[in-house]
Amino acid sequence: MARLAGKVACITASTDGIGFAIARRLAREGARVVISSRKQDNVDKAVAALKKENLDIYGTVCHVSKSDDRTRLLKETIEKYGKLDILISNAAISPSFGNILETTESAWDKIFDVNVKAAFFLIKEAIPYLEKQKNSSIVVVSSIAAYSPLDLIGAYSISKTTLLGLTKALVNPCSQKGIRINGIAPGIIKTKFSQLLWENDEVKDSEAIPPFNGCAMGRVGTPDECASTVAFLSSDDATYITGETIVVAGGMPSHL
Ligand code: NAP
Repeated sequence: MARLAGKVACITASTDGIGFAIARRLAREGARVVISSRKQDNVDKAVAALKKENLDIYGTVCHVSKSDDRTRLLKETIEKYGKLDILISNAAISPSFGNILETTESAWDKIFDVNVKAAFFLIKEAIPYLEKQKNSSIVVVSSIAAYSPLDLIGAYSISKTTLLGLTKALVNPCSQKGIRINGIAPGIIKTKFSQLLWENDEVKDSEAIPPFNGCAMGRVGTPDECASTVAFLSSDDATYITGETIVVAGGMPSHL
């Protein structure tokens, strides 16, 4: 399938997990893809793994909460591939785990800095490049927790709800520039990020986090199942879809 042939994509937090699967899927569909994350080692390993599949990949370090890193990510994308058609804002952290009332101010600040502020400012800085291309688009990775906060990761959940608002708030300004903006809201997906949820029986059985008993399909999802949805939203198959967040959660309760 060459649905994304000719397009250039830039993805944050893409050396592992869902971001890595998105990079591979977009590249397999013909895009030239810039991947990034905080650690050079991880970037090198991910680039090597994707190049082994003969995919057109470039990698660079980008810690999304560092403004200079965000600017460099976009600059290197343009230097390497000459344009930007697709931006995927995927980076997020959840440093605090437990009762929301025990969240410290520094954990709260970190969560909102990486998950919300960095997403907005990266998108803002990418818009001048995206608006130069026909049918360009942005995908923001939110979470099922955006719709119904998970008790043990309350502050993270609120940051993901904020991303639903961010996506909606940007629809009109983006449309005026010919850019679509959408999101995905993954359920429990098998990555390192959610390891505690799918590996630890005690947590798995807890009422507080119901990854399986709240999931109609009764299983965790895979990064590839998120990546295929992102590929659709980024492609010309979705040219009349903007401002939406697609839930990829095996039937976990979200919205009507
Ligand atoms: P993951 O497997 O833990 O992957 C994390 C990736 O992010 C790595 O490449 C890591 O590389 C990079 N990273 C971490 N902090 C970063 C930062 N500040 N700046 C840039 N890169 C950073 O995580 P994941 O499960 O794929 O999660 C990806 C997205 O999906 C997140 O937005 C998460 O909230 C969302 N999500 C995940 C699930 C789930 O169940 N897994 C569910 C709902 C939503 P370095 O260490 O080199 O930086």
